[in-house]
Amino acid sequence: MLVRFLGTAASEGIPNPFCNCKICTLAREQGGKNVRSRASVMVDDCIQIDMSPEWSAQLTREGLSARGVHTTLFTHTHPDHFNVGEFVSRCVNFGYNIDSPMYVFGNDCAIKGAFNALDGLGGDRFVLKVVAPFMSFEHMGYTITPILANHARMELCYNYIIQKDGRTFLYGLDSGYLPECSFEFLAKYTIDLAVFECTYADYIEGVKSDNHLNFASLFAQCKRLRDMGVLTEHSKVYASHVSHSSAMTHEEIEQRVKDCGIEVAFDGLKLNV
Ligand SMILES: [Zn+2]
Ligand SMILES: [Zn+2]
Ligand SMILES: [Zn+2]
Repeated sequence: MLVRFLGTAASEGIPNPFCNCKICTLAREQGGKNVRSRASVMVDDCIQIDMSPEWSAQLTREGLSARGVHTTLFTHTHPDHFNVGEFVSRCVNFGYNIDSPMYVFGNDCAIKGAFNALDGLGGDRFVLKVVAPFMSFEHMGYTITPILANHARMELCYNYIIQKDGRTFLYGLDSGYLPECSFEFLAKYTIDLAVFECTYADYIEGVKSDNHLNFASLFAQCKRLRDMGVLTEHSKVYASHVSHSSAMTHEEIEQRVKDCGIEVAFDGLKLNV
């Protein structure tokens, strides 16, 4: 599988347009890996996970279109992940020469939100399906499994396991330290690529933070998954969903996580799983 990181920021993006902190200022002045758009990834140029506010511009930046995207998976409906209004651009009289549906999977909030955003325009160009945590399904040659994240109070948020040709990719954001039921479920998997978040970085409020990961909970989660054999010496682990609030540059975060076998994603990164 080819995993493209279209965006790797937490909710404000970097730079946050309203902010003049050290990181936002550096990102404006120097560009490069410190500039981050909101988080989304694409798998094999056909499965989109989350749609960020910059999604359309992210595709253009990468020289891509969404013509080949047949599936969208939503982790949850926070606005940095759920730019669902873009779907209207795929409806009749908005997008041309489209002859197959977009399959959209997510929790009930996401699917209801997508239905509402389409406002009756979807016709046969969308197939919307609520999926349940820990219920795997086969789809277009992939095995897709939502697992429960530890993130929001008002909805069940998902992380996704995507498998194809014996390879396994876990997209693990947004989430704090995973719930016990997800650790138990993951025990039967060996992950080739795991993407976790480090939104809170050095912000420590108890080692195992809810809502988002900090360094301490990221390291604890990775250690537990390594001890379980879910992550092995062959697994790649990347951190994403990076916030300017960390007050750390890309390079500083890299230095901080590398001893735990973790690398730091950046916008435009491509990985073969
Ligand atoms: Zn987020
Ligand atoms: Zn800032
Ligand atoms: Zn969120």
